[in-house]
Amino acid sequence: MKERYESFPPCPPPVVTGPFMDQFIPLTSLEQMSSTEYDVLVVGTGGGGGAAIWRLCQQLKGTGKKIGVVEAGPIMLQTHSYNLPTVAQNFSNYYYNPKITKPIGLTMPDLRDSRQAIALGGKTLFWDMVTPRMPPSQIAETPVPYNEMQTYYNIAEQIMKVNKPDAYDSPLSRILLNRFWENGVPEAEITPRAINFEPVNYGGVNPTVYFSSISFLAGGLEARPFDLAVQARAVQLLGDHGRIAGVKVMTPDKKPYILRAKNIILSAGIFETVRLLLYSGVQGRALGHYLIGHSYMIFSTVINRRDLPATLGPLYLLIPQTADRPYQMQIYRRQNEMLEQKGELGIGFSGYGKVESRYENRLYLHPHLKDEYGVPLLQADFSFSEKDRAIMARMAQDIHQYAAAIGGRVAPPDPCLHTLDHVAGVCRMGIDPANSGTDPYGQIHGVPGLYVADASVLPPYGAVNPTLTIAALAIRTADHIAGQM
Ligand SMILES: Cc1cc2nc3c(=O)[nH]c(=O)nc-3n(C[C@H](O)[C@H](O)[C@H](O)COP(=O)(O)OP(=O)(O)OC[C@H]3O[C@@H](n4cnc5c(N)ncnc54)[C@H](O)[C@@H]3O)c2cc1C
Repeated sequence: MKERYESFPPCPPPVVTGPFMDQFIPLTSLEQMSSTEYDVLVVGTGGGGGAAIWRLCQQLKGTGKKIGVVEAGPIMLQTHSYNLPTVAQNFSNYYYNPKITKPIGLTMPDLRDSRQAIALGGKTLFWDMVTPRMPPSQIAETPVPYNEMQTYYNIAEQIMKVNKPDAYDSPLSRILLNRFWENGVPEAEITPRAINFEPVNYGGVNPTVYFSSISFLAGGLEARPFDLAVQARAVQLLGDHGRIAGVKVMTPDKKPYILRAKNIILSAGIFETVRLLLYSGVQGRALGHYLIGHSYMIFSTVINRRDLPATLGPLYLLIPQTADRPYQMQIYRRQNEMLEQKGELGIGFSGYGKVESRYENRLYLHPHLKDEYGVPLLQADFSFSEKDRAIMARMAQDIHQYAAAIGGRVAPPDPCLHTLDHVAGVCRMGIDPANSGTDPYGQIHGVPGLYVADASVLPPYGAVNPTLTIAALAIRTADHIAGQM
């Protein structure tokens, strides 16, 4: 036996084409980054930052331009939390753990999306991946032309693998969708989500199922390298003769570094982006103002379980915002064994109402309290307007029509309101510096080279979930910057 083995030539060693990786993603030290002047430096790696980094890498492939990225948080998870069974099963216990996410300020309602997830990937490690587009009537309220918005939605949906998958085409989804269509709600649809249902490519690279910004970063690295430092918190912007010149960054043990850059994209999420801008003394009447989001209402309905087949499958339906409907409803199955024993099935409706963009709703710096980095804490002033409340009242009225359309009725518990979800808009894009923080490409009015690409730059975006629009606009901003070069 021994002799036969020895008669074969030895196999060649594995091929290694680049430097060895010692992390799941290549990292660069802040020391090294402080000796480079970047063409573009991105602050934050969540929904907006990830999309901007991906697009910059595509557009600046083979150019020798230098791209740097700083992320305040650590590598907490390497993929969306739903891709990790132990976290997915205990989602709330994990997400609300103060070591994982924190509420902001002293006056902001403590909601899922008004917490901060300071980590590589930001809140996209936890999001629900619901990705509708703004309807045409809503796009008309933004400074972006309709056709351009559609182009960037196409690009964002392609990279994020947005679809209305057949896998949802379960008996329950199909039956309820047809009931909606036949009973006066023809716009009801399967919920678009950023979930990759393509079969695993055995032998090739496995795609992740649930999309997070980590996939944006991977897509960027596939095109070209960029320098990334984690646990590197941007604390102050630095200018030179009215232009952006760099940013001061600190490590968790408060060691400061100055990073130089010709262009900076702030994608630190709505709270941190506006805090950085205000603390750095960037001027603008609209900065911190026009805070928007959604009034978020939850309704319960029941339908007859006995009319339905034994196997139901999942339920993800959407009644979208339209020109006449200033809200959207997400429809899902509520697990309730007591109801099922009575021969009923619980169906939940999450209503997202449009909120007016008003100057007086704002984020601002606390006059005295500071964080451990010496940066003032953020506070919020927010109230709903008469118009916002009329939309909530309409949701509470229309739910009876939707329940009837699927052959059911509204049931206890009574509807409840979670104030302001999907917060956005405090640095909104627009033409007039008197009522917008950036120009229509996300550049801060009057500060060449300083851009914003995250939820804070959203113009009035209606009742749709924000992240697809955040990503589409971030990609457009990256194209604009690459075009300027
Ligand atoms: C549980 C949950 C479910 C959701 N479901 C949906 C959904 O189905 N559909 C949808 O459209 N939206 C959903 N959202 C909202 C969505 O996650 C956010 O709208 C989106 O992630 C916002 O992107 P962003 O870039 O503005 O911020 P983030 O994704 O929060 O990214 C900000 C990044 O900046 C980093 N950072 C912060 N401060 C600094 C600093 N000083 N220096 C350097 N880096 C910094 C953070 O660590 C983070 O990486 C959900 C949110 C949550 C929490």
